Amino acid sequence: MLPLSKLASRAGRLALLAVALSPLFLFAASPVMNSKDSPKNPAPAACATDGPLSACGLPSKVVIDMSHRKVHHTDAEWRAILTPQQYSVMREQGTEPPFRNAYWDNHQDGVYVCAGCGTPLFDSRQKFDSGTGWPSFWQVIDPAFIEEQTDHSYGMTRVEVHCAVCGAHLGHVFDDGPDPTGLRYCINSASLKFIPRAEYDAWVKKTAAAAAAVAAKH
Ligand SMILES: [Zn+2]
Repeated sequence: MLPLSKLASRAGRLALLAVALSPLFLFAASPVMNSKDSPKNPAPAACATDGPLSACGLPSKVVIDMSHRKVHHTDAEWRAILTPQQYSVMREQGTEPPFRNAYWDNHQDGVYVCAGCGTPLFDSRQKFDSGTGWPSFWQVIDPAFIEEQTDHSYGMTRVEVHCAVCGAHLGHVFDDGPDPTGLRYCINSASLKFIPRAEYDAWVKKTAAAAAAVAAKH
Protein backbone atom coordinates (compact mmCIF):
# COMPACT_ATOMS: atom_id res chain seq x y z
CA MET A 1 0.00 0.00 0.00
CA LEU A 2 1.32 3.42 -0.93
CA PRO A 3 1.60 6.15 1.71
CA LEU A 4 -1.21 8.69 1.62
CA SER A 5 1.11 11.53 0.61
CA LYS A 6 2.25 9.62 -2.46
CA LEU A 7 -1.29 8.75 -3.38
CA ALA A 8 -2.41 12.35 -2.99
CA SER A 9 0.35 13.53 -5.31
CA ARG A 10 -1.20 11.37 -7.98
CA ALA A 11 -4.52 13.09 -7.53
CA GLY A 12 -5.43 13.29 -11.17
CA ARG A 13 -5.12 9.62 -12.02
CA LEU A 14 -6.56 8.70 -8.66
CA ALA A 15 -9.66 10.65 -9.48
CA LEU A 16 -10.20 8.58 -12.60
CA LEU A 17 -9.57 5.45 -10.58
CA ALA A 18 -12.12 6.69 -8.08
CA VAL A 19 -14.69 7.18 -10.80
CA ALA A 20 -14.03 3.69 -12.04
CA LEU A 21 -14.31 2.22 -8.58
CA SER A 22 -17.65 3.48 -7.44
CA PRO A 23 -20.10 6.39 -7.66
CA LEU A 24 -19.37 6.74 -3.95
CA PHE A 25 -16.16 8.56 -4.82
CA LEU A 26 -17.53 10.97 -7.38
CA PHE A 27 -17.11 14.57 -6.43
CA ALA A 28 -20.37 15.47 -4.75
CA ALA A 29 -19.96 19.14 -3.92
CA SER A 30 -23.00 21.33 -4.23
CA PRO A 31 -23.03 23.34 -7.46
CA VAL A 32 -20.94 26.47 -7.09
CA MET A 33 -21.41 29.08 -9.77
CA ASN A 34 -19.11 32.00 -9.15
CA SER A 35 -16.60 34.01 -10.99
CA LYS A 36 -13.07 35.41 -10.88
CA ASP A 37 -9.80 34.43 -12.54
CA SER A 38 -6.29 35.57 -13.39
CA PRO A 39 -5.80 37.74 -16.49
CA LYS A 40 -2.44 36.45 -17.65
CA ASN A 41 -2.86 36.62 -21.37
CA PRO A 42 -4.99 39.53 -22.55
CA ALA A 43 -4.44 38.97 -26.29
CA PRO A 44 -7.85 38.14 -27.77
CA ALA A 45 -8.09 34.87 -29.65
CA ALA A 46 -8.82 34.83 -33.34
CA CYS A 47 -12.46 33.92 -32.91
CA ALA A 48 -13.26 36.68 -30.41
CA THR A 49 -14.62 39.12 -32.95
CA ASP A 50 -17.37 36.89 -34.30
CA GLY A 51 -19.18 36.35 -31.02
CA PRO A 52 -21.44 33.33 -30.84
CA LEU A 53 -20.84 32.49 -34.51
CA SER A 54 -17.10 32.13 -33.96
CA ALA A 55 -15.25 28.84 -34.20
CA CYS A 56 -15.69 28.38 -30.46
CA GLY A 57 -19.38 29.14 -30.59
CA LEU A 58 -20.59 26.70 -33.18
CA PRO A 59 -21.96 23.36 -32.07
CA SER A 60 -20.19 20.14 -32.99
CA LYS A 61 -21.28 17.27 -35.17
CA VAL A 62 -18.93 14.47 -34.20
CA VAL A 63 -20.04 10.99 -33.22
CA ILE A 64 -18.81 10.16 -29.74
CA ASP A 65 -18.40 6.47 -29.02
CA MET A 66 -20.21 5.84 -25.73
CA SER A 67 -19.48 2.11 -25.55
CA HIS A 68 -16.45 2.30 -23.27
CA ARG A 69 -17.52 5.03 -20.85
CA LYS A 70 -17.11 4.47 -17.12
CA VAL A 71 -20.21 6.53 -16.34
CA HIS A 72 -23.38 5.63 -18.21
CA HIS A 73 -26.88 7.05 -17.99
CA THR A 74 -29.91 6.71 -20.20
CA ASP A 75 -31.04 9.74 -22.11
CA ALA A 76 -33.92 10.20 -19.66
CA GLU A 77 -31.50 10.04 -16.73
CA TRP A 78 -29.19 12.65 -18.27
CA ARG A 79 -32.18 14.92 -18.80
CA ALA A 80 -33.06 14.55 -15.12
CA ILE A 81 -29.47 15.05 -13.92
CA LEU A 82 -28.57 18.05 -16.08
CA THR A 83 -30.19 21.43 -16.63
CA PRO A 84 -31.66 21.97 -20.12
CA GLN A 85 -28.64 24.04 -21.10
CA GLN A 86 -26.19 21.49 -19.72
CA TYR A 87 -28.03 18.75 -21.59
CA SER A 88 -27.91 20.74 -24.82
CA VAL A 89 -24.18 21.39 -24.53
CA MET A 90 -22.98 18.12 -22.99
CA ARG A 91 -25.23 15.53 -24.62
CA GLU A 92 -26.16 17.28 -27.89
CA GLN A 93 -22.84 19.04 -28.55
CA GLY A 94 -24.43 22.46 -28.35
CA THR A 95 -22.81 25.66 -27.20
CA GLU A 96 -23.56 28.50 -24.80
CA PRO A 97 -23.33 32.24 -25.49
CA PRO A 98 -19.98 33.97 -24.90
CA PHE A 99 -19.70 36.32 -21.89
CA ARG A 100 -23.04 35.06 -20.59
CA ASN A 101 -21.88 31.91 -18.87
CA ALA A 102 -20.72 31.08 -15.37
CA TYR A 103 -16.93 30.84 -15.65
CA TRP A 104 -15.54 32.91 -18.53
CA ASP A 105 -14.51 35.60 -16.00
CA ASN A 106 -13.99 33.36 -12.97
CA HIS A 107 -10.69 34.29 -11.28
CA GLN A 108 -10.99 32.05 -8.23
CA ASP A 109 -8.39 29.45 -7.35
CA GLY A 110 -9.64 25.91 -7.78
CA VAL A 111 -10.43 23.04 -10.08
CA TYR A 112 -13.07 22.56 -12.77
CA VAL A 113 -14.65 19.12 -12.77
CA CYS A 114 -16.97 17.61 -15.38
CA ALA A 115 -20.56 18.63 -14.60
CA GLY A 116 -21.72 15.22 -15.76
CA CYS A 117 -19.49 12.87 -13.77
CA GLY A 118 -17.23 14.86 -11.42
CA THR A 119 -13.94 14.03 -13.12
CA PRO A 120 -11.35 16.80 -12.56
CA LEU A 121 -10.63 18.32 -15.99
CA PHE A 122 -9.04 21.78 -15.69
CA ASP A 123 -7.11 23.75 -13.06
CA SER A 124 -7.51 27.51 -12.56
CA ARG A 125 -3.70 27.73 -12.61
CA GLN A 126 -3.85 26.88 -16.30
CA LYS A 127 -6.77 29.21 -17.08
CA PHE A 128 -6.21 32.38 -19.08
CA ASP A 129 -8.25 35.25 -20.49
CA SER A 130 -8.61 34.43 -24.18
CA GLY A 131 -11.00 37.30 -24.88
CA THR A 132 -13.50 34.88 -26.39
CA GLY A 133 -16.04 34.96 -23.57
CA TRP A 134 -15.63 31.27 -22.79
CA PRO A 135 -13.42 29.75 -20.06
CA SER A 136 -10.09 28.99 -21.71
CA PHE A 137 -7.23 26.80 -20.52
CA TRP A 138 -3.80 26.05 -21.95
CA GLN A 139 -3.66 22.59 -20.40
CA VAL A 140 -5.89 19.78 -19.17
CA ILE A 141 -5.24 18.26 -15.73
CA ASP A 142 -4.54 14.86 -17.27
CA PRO A 143 -4.79 13.99 -20.98
CA ALA A 144 -6.30 10.64 -19.97
CA PHE A 145 -9.45 12.44 -18.81
CA ILE A 146 -10.21 14.04 -22.16
CA GLU A 147 -10.67 12.63 -25.64
CA GLU A 148 -10.43 14.51 -28.92
CA GLN A 149 -12.28 14.07 -32.17
CA THR A 150 -11.77 15.91 -35.45
CA ASP A 151 -14.86 17.97 -36.28
CA HIS A 152 -15.39 18.92 -39.96
CA SER A 153 -18.77 20.63 -39.51
CA TYR A 154 -19.48 24.13 -40.87
CA GLY A 155 -16.72 23.85 -43.45
CA MET A 156 -14.05 24.07 -40.76
CA THR A 157 -11.65 21.59 -39.27
CA ARG A 158 -11.81 21.83 -35.51
CA VAL A 159 -10.80 19.47 -32.74
CA GLU A 160 -13.74 18.66 -30.49
CA VAL A 161 -12.97 17.64 -26.88
CA HIS A 162 -15.15 15.53 -24.60
CA CYS A 163 -14.93 13.93 -21.18
CA ALA A 164 -13.29 10.49 -21.38
CA VAL A 165 -15.33 9.21 -18.46
CA CYS A 166 -18.93 10.12 -19.37
CA GLY A 167 -18.59 11.25 -23.00
CA ALA A 168 -19.89 14.77 -22.32
CA HIS A 169 -19.05 17.35 -24.98
CA LEU A 170 -16.85 20.06 -23.49
CA GLY A 171 -15.76 22.34 -26.33
CA HIS A 172 -12.82 22.54 -28.73
CA VAL A 173 -9.04 22.83 -28.56
CA PHE A 174 -7.15 25.22 -30.85
CA ASP A 175 -3.44 25.72 -31.44
CA ASP A 176 -3.42 29.52 -30.88
CA GLY A 177 -3.04 29.39 -27.09
CA PRO A 178 -0.31 30.87 -24.88
CA ASP A 179 2.94 29.32 -23.71
CA PRO A 180 4.00 26.84 -22.57
CA THR A 181 1.70 24.56 -24.60
CA GLY A 182 0.39 26.87 -27.32
CA LEU A 183 -3.02 25.25 -26.82
CA ARG A 184 -6.34 26.91 -26.14
CA TYR A 185 -9.05 24.69 -24.72
CA CYS A 186 -12.22 26.68 -25.38
CA ILE A 187 -14.70 25.11 -22.98
CA ASN A 188 -18.37 25.63 -22.24
CA SER A 189 -19.07 26.66 -18.65
CA ALA A 190 -22.17 24.47 -18.82
CA SER A 191 -19.93 21.39 -19.00
CA LEU A 192 -17.98 22.35 -15.89
CA LYS A 193 -18.46 22.68 -12.16
CA PHE A 194 -15.98 24.88 -10.25
CA ILE A 195 -14.61 23.55 -6.97
CA PRO A 196 -12.62 25.96 -4.73
CA ARG A 197 -9.06 24.75 -4.03
CA ALA A 198 -9.48 23.91 -0.34
CA GLU A 199 -12.62 21.91 -1.02
CA TYR A 200 -10.95 20.06 -3.88
CA ASP A 201 -7.83 19.28 -1.83
CA ALA A 202 -9.98 17.90 0.96
CA TRP A 203 -11.81 15.69 -1.53
CA VAL A 204 -8.52 14.41 -2.99
CA LYS A 205 -7.29 13.51 0.48
CA LYS A 206 -10.52 11.74 1.36
CA THR A 207 -10.65 9.94 -1.98
CA ALA A 208 -7.03 8.83 -1.69
CA ALA A 209 -7.69 7.39 1.75
CA ALA A 210 -10.83 5.61 0.55
CA ALA A 211 -9.07 4.23 -2.53
CA ALA A 212 -6.17 3.03 -0.37
CA ALA A 213 -8.62 1.30 1.96
CA VAL A 214 -10.27 -0.46 -0.98
CA ALA A 215 -6.87 -1.45 -2.38
CA ALA A 216 -5.78 -2.84 1.00
CA LYS A 217 -8.74 -5.24 1.00
CA HIS A 218 -7.72 -6.82 -2.32
ZN1 LIG B 1 -17.68 13.54 -17.52
